[in-house]
Amino acid sequence: MRVRASPTLTSAILARRRPARDRLRVTRTAEPRLKILLVSDLHYALKQFDWVVANAPSFDVVVLAGDHVDIAGQLSGSVQVTVILKYLRRLAPLTRVVVSSGNHDLDTRDGAGEKVAAWMNRVRQLGIAADGDTIEANGALITICPWWDGPVVREAVSALLQRDAAKRAGKQWIWVYHAPPADSPTSWTGREHFGDADLSAWIETHAPDLVLTGHIHEAPFKRDGSWADRIGASWVFNSGRQIGPTPTHIAIDTQVREAAWFSLAGAELARLDLPLTRPLQSLEIAPAWLSSPALGPSLA
Ligand SMILES: [Zn+2]
Repeated sequence: MRVRASPTLTSAILARRRPARDRLRVTRTAEPRLKILLVSDLHYALKQFDWVVANAPSFDVVVLAGDHVDIAGQLSGSVQVTVILKYLRRLAPLTRVVVSSGNHDLDTRDGAGEKVAAWMNRVRQLGIAADGDTIEANGALITICPWWDGPVVREAVSALLQRDAAKRAGKQWIWVYHAPPADSPTSWTGREHFGDADLSAWIETHAPDLVLTGHIHEAPFKRDGSWADRIGASWVFNSGRQIGPTPTHIAIDTQVREAAWFSLAGAELARLDLPLTRPLQSLEIAPAWLSSPALGPSLA
């Protein structure tokens, strides 16, 4: 059941009330609409994979930003990968799915001796965009970065971003990258920042619109940590991790220009067109643009 107010409809109503010159302006400034669901670090929590499958149809793009496998789990990595691929096979026909690797997903060494998630090639065979791929969705460019474990893959990530910078051409540019940047509340463990300094430098160089991460499970729940950060013009999000059947998740509407984070500890909203001020706004009810009533268990 869709309960959201349609911004397209709202724009049309506003446009009817405005003189012709304003109407032109409204049309030109509207961003293409892209509704994104970000989850990360499911770590073989199968009920959380079930939740993603159930909610995927409400979004244009569903991002799983790494650490699908739990290397501390009782099952071997290869058995976990087999089950995860079954879930991804169910997800693929429901919406655009984007999958990046995390440090738990590395199953082999490449020719340079660096650990990589070779099974991302099997993900790609399902028609799902994975490590090293770039897709366009509703006018936005999405670049999917692999976890890097050494200088060769790191250079490949640098080249991927450099290449896609040339394709940007005014489009919104979204990165999927397992680790959050260094010295950011999104990489705060409660004791230290544990982020990726190379990512920080790439953000500074390229200024993407959105960077979708995970990796530091505790960051959104810790004092001085957060699920959201702004570095220059770039918004950075880390969905975090929690126990139970519902993963922590972030929903983003690129046209309404809002991002909302949902967890057992509560929900918060960031307005992408405003400067970031903390504390972020607490959400008592789900934003109108969210069409799935299943989202945000604490708000249900
Ligand atoms: Zn993790």
